[in-house]
Amino acid sequence: MSTKMKAVVAYGKNNYGMEEREIPALKDGEMLIKIEACGICAGDVKAREGVSRFWGGDGMPAYCEPPFTPGHEFFGHVVAIQGEVPGNFKVGDRVISEQIVPCGTCWYCKRGLYSLCDLHNVYGFKNFLNGGMAEYAVLPKGSINYHVPESLTTEEAALIEPFSCSLRGVRQAQITPEDTVVIAGAGTLGLGMVQAIRAFYPCKKLIVLDLIDKRLELARKYGADVVLNPKTTDALQAVKDLTDGVGCDIYIEVSGHPSAVQQGLDMIRKAGTFVEFSVMSGPSTIDWSIIGDAKEITIRGSQLSPDCYPTVIQGFLDKVYHAEGVVSHRFKLEDWDEAFTAAHGRDAVKVILVP
Ligand SMILES: [Zn+2]
Ligand SMILES: [Zn+2]
Repeated sequence: MSTKMKAVVAYGKNNYGMEEREIPALKDGEMLIKIEACGICAGDVKAREGVSRFWGGDGMPAYCEPPFTPGHEFFGHVVAIQGEVPGNFKVGDRVISEQIVPCGTCWYCKRGLYSLCDLHNVYGFKNFLNGGMAEYAVLPKGSINYHVPESLTTEEAALIEPFSCSLRGVRQAQITPEDTVVIAGAGTLGLGMVQAIRAFYPCKKLIVLDLIDKRLELARKYGADVVLNPKTTDALQAVKDLTDGVGCDIYIEVSGHPSAVQQGLDMIRKAGTFVEFSVMSGPSTIDWSIIGDAKEITIRGSQLSPDCYPTVIQGFLDKVYHAEGVVSHRFKLEDWDEAFTAAHGRDAVKVILVP
């Protein structure tokens, strides 16, 4: 095995490049994997563009600690193990790691709320926790790893991370069979929510909104009852018409557009539930009194995907989850720059990099 590998390296906002780096040496309790593929997350694109949520500013501390290799949606095969690792892994196994590596000792970790870990170390944003846009990656001590069946395609396995996040969002919504649910945003995560609702959480009516018709077609294919493009349809009126003027029971915001927050608050019925999921590119300004005095809305957040990976892996095995059309582009690792551009574009849903 050569001792060098190709890796995308981020030095700062808009300062990314590809380099030859040493294949990392393992410490006790670590696994080295050869990457099979790594998806590009909207968060990776936003980090490269330099939004304050990642690099600080606008009253926010910096999250990124360069230089680092981006990518938290990766998986591969174990090529080396140092010492003991939990989970019965051996060289040759196909493996995926949850995107967060919990510290195990903070207030949240001690209570089992590991996805809210105070240190919040996610692969691909910090120099001590490199991600999967490389030929190899280290799964450190404390990482949460799962076996990936060989029968899953590369595209399916690449969706385990995002669809796990989708599943978390859907669980937070606490859907009942009586509910009319609106999902705002039919990117990878919204499409994962559509598939999760169809597989596990039947509802009365599932409505999906997006500004891109191609995504709406995918939403319909995977189980949306009604799809609406707010560019060409009065979506608020349409949802009112579909609910006898009452409004939807549940609104899940996964578009990343600050305007989708107001849209949801208008669309939702009194005592309905609003699930906020997106990483917004900027603040959203609303009249907060609509939450209490006007509608008595329940607001629930959703972050990462605690206890969701096994369900999604099984879902792909059981063919209740589908990757077709959701993974829209596949690039070679060397073409990472082009891949980031594609991920930003309107034609793409999920873009993956394959070393
Ligand atoms: Zn992601
Ligand atoms: Zn912690």
